[in-house]
Amino acid sequence: MKSPAISQAMDILKMLRQISEAEVDISEKLEKIIVMIVRQMKADAGACYIQIDENYLELFASCGYSPEADHNITIRIGEGLVGEVAKSKKSLVVSNVWKHPQFSYQPSMAEDKYKSFLGVPLIRWGRVIGIITLQHKKTHEYSNSEVEIAETVAMILSDLVASDEMSEFKNELFRSRGQSGKEKYKGISLSNGYGMGTAIVHRRRQAVSKIFADDKDAERQKLDVAYAKMNQDLDDKFTSTQLGIGEHVNILEAYRMFAKDKGWYNKITNNINSGLTAEAAVERAYEDMWNRLSGTQDTYMRERLHDLRDVADRLLGYLCGDENSSDSKDLQDIIVVAKTMGPADLMDYDYHKIRGLIIEDGTPTMHVSIVAKALGIPVISKIRGICKEIKNGQLIAIDGTDGYVYIEPTEQVKKKFISKQAEKQKAAQRLSELKKLPSKTKDGTRINLYLNVGLSFDLDYIETTNCDGIGLYRTEIPFMASDTMPDVEKQTSYYQELMDRVGRKKVIFRSLDVGSDKLLPYWSYGGEDNPAIGWRSIRITLDRRAILRKQMRAFLRAAAGKELNVMFPMISNLAEFQDAKETLMIELEKEKRKGQNVPKQVNVGLMIEVPSIVFQLDAVLQEADFISIGTNDLAQFIFACDRGNPKLSNRYDVLSAPFLKMMHDIVQKANQAGVPCSVCGEMAANPIEALALIGIGYRNLSMSGASIGRVKSMVRSVKLEDIEDYMKTLLKSNRRTLRPQLISYANDHGIEIC
Ligand code: PEP
Ligand code: MG
Repeated sequence: MKSPAISQAMDILKMLRQISEAEVDISEKLEKIIVMIVRQMKADAGACYIQIDENYLELFASCGYSPEADHNITIRIGEGLVGEVAKSKKSLVVSNVWKHPQFSYQPSMAEDKYKSFLGVPLIRWGRVIGIITLQHKKTHEYSNSEVEIAETVAMILSDLVASDEMSEFKNELFRSRGQSGKEKYKGISLSNGYGMGTAIVHRRRQAVSKIFADDKDAERQKLDVAYAKMNQDLDDKFTSTQLGIGEHVNILEAYRMFAKDKGWYNKITNNINSGLTAEAAVERAYEDMWNRLSGTQDTYMRERLHDLRDVADRLLGYLCGDENSSDSKDLQDIIVVAKTMGPADLMDYDYHKIRGLIIEDGTPTMHVSIVAKALGIPVISKIRGICKEIKNGQLIAIDGTDGYVYIEPTEQVKKKFISKQAEKQKAAQRLSELKKLPSKTKDGTRINLYLNVGLSFDLDYIETTNCDGIGLYRTEIPFMASDTMPDVEKQTSYYQELMDRVGRKKVIFRSLDVGSDKLLPYWSYGGEDNPAIGWRSIRITLDRRAILRKQMRAFLRAAAGKELNVMFPMISNLAEFQDAKETLMIELEKEKRKGQNVPKQVNVGLMIEVPSIVFQLDAVLQEADFISIGTNDLAQFIFACDRGNPKLSNRYDVLSAPFLKMMHDIVQKANQAGVPCSVCGEMAANPIEALALIGIGYRNLSMSGASIGRVKSMVRSVKLEDIEDYMKTLLKSNRRTLRPQLISYANDHGIEIC
């Protein structure tokens, strides 16, 4: 038979589920839940407070207090008993609040009649997002089972409080109050950093008012004038801006070619010939293309549609004589706000002045995001309705690190942004000072720090960080930025340029790793239900052997007379590795036979990204010259957790015993076999994770250039022997995540992890 406490808990959970699934709005659900808990737990009052910013909680629903109290009480973190629960992140039981030193009386709540208090935090991924409380009129000693029930309710309630529905409700609520400073919107960050400036809302689409033409010749002429002017302006714009080198330049170049595309121009003239005005003909040409392409699963083609919409809008602007509607000449700092935009649109503004970009319908693979990221502009997307919300000229602050947009920020937020910008400058300064110092732990062990490179823009970090070389060159990036498959000569010149730039330092080339989210524009992939575990990476290049052979030839030629390091991604078993390696060796022999100058040494390695290979490591280590762990993919497969799904991003942690134990076994085996082993996934780029990695034996870490300074600071402040000991204890833990333990260890031992 169930104990009364268990059956009470089960009843509450059942009712909680019913209310959560009911077709009522979220505030009503919250209200009903509080009433239900108060009744079921035989309390006299109850409340739910929700965190509204870093410092405050607001009363969102209550029962037993003054009816006016909801949404009229805010409590600072640390203030009173509720604030104490938020601060300590722990449940609090008080049998007589009036005797408690931290009790702070809230007159507008009419809480005079209550004596006992139980407060429980709602926690999401280690952060308090709200509090629930229960109160009794008489002195009440809350039992352990009552506390446990309240904690279980809090756990379930936190799902509701963290839901999209709740964030929309909060946004709506703050909007309706017209509270400046509370106009804080949560979106998805597509490019990190902080920025503040005046809003410029990117021009909206021109509506076509006249559809049928009176004079076809006049329309054709109008089109030609607008078309020529648009292309001339694009040419001027792109050649006059100093964009450096990199993929973003290739994207803009491709866009310019796209705007000049004859096929598209001919479609428009055909539409004019059939009786439409020039404007309607442009719209029709776009619609035709949209009808043909919008159903495609191919990411590249979908991105092309964005470009096409942008070119069509641009041309319509010229046709209507409204080509320069956004004027930012007199402004120093601007935030560009758009529903959607093409990469060339961004160039309508002086990009030196752009402090941030908000794209309502943005995605990470969208070209404008890639260009903005390469230019160091923070980008936020996916805030529904934000374009309508923001007006030209408003002050906007964007936090591209946590994904927040503030409209007319408060003085407090402004100060925070100014200090963040100062911090950024200080960090850059520290980075340049750190550059000269060795990457050694306090007890003298060297940790080699390498660079992950994709865009040629990343290469600047070779000089600015003084890193040990390139631990991962993602060769697919130049392939993705090109309109056609680069031939051997073109590839050789890319790789040679890289080798020249790196000089005597080590470079590890990764063979083409396409498929999944990295698609080539000139290649048809066909729809796959699960592209991340589909036809991708080495699976493609082994099946399309000519591509692999050509790339190997280009590597061999680029590294002639030098050391060549090649690694293969997504290897699932030894046979795959042997097969890929043999292809390289055959190419090497062919080159020798042809009398070509070949590398003086060739090292062949593989990425550890697929779990099956971890179980064949002994055999693999007999044949590999080095291994590198791609923790991004390895973690997604180990936890069965899509790496690109934001809903799952905090659910599993690489800083947990199962993952770390596996990482520990890999490095131990590699060390025993005398095979160099590194980590090149994102895990190496974060100081706290890098701390755990060196604590379990890693000595080679490869990461994006922006992370090298922070990781080097951590390395220089740690005593290796101590963290190695601590990791032995931590690996025995069964907690979901070991992150809090590692953070407090770092704080207690003066290890720099910021
Ligand atoms: C990885 O999977 O960790 C990795 C480095 O490869 P990519 O992120 O390019 O898939
Ligand atoms: Mg990978």
